[in-house]
Amino acid sequence: MMTRSPGWAKHTCAFFKTCAVGLLLTALIWPPGRAKGALRAGAAKIDITPEKPVRMAGYAGRKGLSQGVHDPLSARAVTFENNGKRLVIVSTDLIGFYGGTAEPLREAIIHEFKLKPSELFLTAIHTHSGPSLTLDEEKGHESNLEYTVSLKSRLIDLLRQAFKNMAAVQTGVGVGHSPVGANRRELTFDNKANSSIRLGRNPYGPTDKEVLVMKVAESDGRTIAALFDYATHATCLGGKNYVISGDVLGLAEQFVEKILGNDVIAPAFAGASGNIDPWFRVLPAFNNEPGWIPEPVLLGTLLGEEVVHVFRDIGEVSGGGEIESAYVTLELPGKPRGEAKIDETSPPTPLNVIVARVGSVAFVGIGAEVLTEIGMAIKAASPFEHTFVITHCNGAAGYLAPEHLHVEGGYEIRSNAFAPQAAELLVKKAVQMLHDL
Ligand SMILES: [Zn+2]
Repeated sequence: MMTRSPGWAKHTCAFFKTCAVGLLLTALIWPPGRAKGALRAGAAKIDITPEKPVRMAGYAGRKGLSQGVHDPLSARAVTFENNGKRLVIVSTDLIGFYGGTAEPLREAIIHEFKLKPSELFLTAIHTHSGPSLTLDEEKGHESNLEYTVSLKSRLIDLLRQAFKNMAAVQTGVGVGHSPVGANRRELTFDNKANSSIRLGRNPYGPTDKEVLVMKVAESDGRTIAALFDYATHATCLGGKNYVISGDVLGLAEQFVEKILGNDVIAPAFAGASGNIDPWFRVLPAFNNEPGWIPEPVLLGTLLGEEVVHVFRDIGEVSGGGEIESAYVTLELPGKPRGEAKIDETSPPTPLNVIVARVGSVAFVGIGAEVLTEIGMAIKAASPFEHTFVITHCNGAAGYLAPEHLHVEGGYEIRSNAFAPQAAELLVKKAVQMLHDL
């Protein structure tokens, strides 16, 4: 029988003491639910409905100020953290960060929470029935200026709440489909058989019908967030509407939160929807005829019900999930904005692209309104099973269309500032960044 020498025993004792101290330190640094490698998340929502009449965004011909509110605008956030790496996803019921407003808002948030640039997705649902953002003291309306300045502190408050609410979570993803979005590039012919593409409805054109839903639940099963991504413009209402509304995507968020309970935050993201409008588009107002369901409510509910169906079918949730992210500003080949022609001497057009993963779910954020074919290509080539493609994210570089549509022309082609080859470069870069995560 072996006997332990006193020296051996001493070393063993020292070894166990070291282990015990180590375990104690680990427990102090990573208390329960913060074990290294455990995913934590928090969610929050704040009201960002303009308090005063404001200039509305999305239609150049609409000059007057807003006249009342149909439904409230909100900003929603989900913050993730794992092993010192963070991911902050903000969805705002706004048109987007035009007029150079993305960078100052991003900088304020990044500075306040000491984030890396790649850790922040600042996104908008592209409602055309919300306020326009401006920091231009000369040309901007004073109410919009005041609104935009106040948005900075409101978003910081929102994220402070989300960070405060953080707890260990489990996540799961589900996929559904919705017919709410329709391709809007309608082919027309004049009496000499010349063809052109106009903004209308092309029911046979490509649309990304996927409804992607991510469930985030605390360990006791309490859901804190249901994030969803769908490719449509939020333009049921057009340039004659003067009431504030989140339109189809905002109404879908409100519906999902109402059904799932008020503690669940349901941020929406506009997928690749540059050429996708809701089935009913640019209507003058909410139709209040007796018995009629106003189209934005009808379509917002239709989309919201699919989100809830998908959410309720997410059976499997899992903990953990590493966070990785990357952010670049691409310099893509440019073309003169507002003209169909391509000019080889055009300077490059910058485009912000951000990618991130939370476990096996990927997010791609693009600072432009890319056409649906581009989002579908990124999803198809992504090495991840589920990839949220989010537009109007961290910038507002206008439309970006695939090369073949430059032959057909149309509004999105004329008004964009990217040369035809830009789309393929974007898709390749985004997919490469996903592979590198
Ligand atoms: Zn748009």
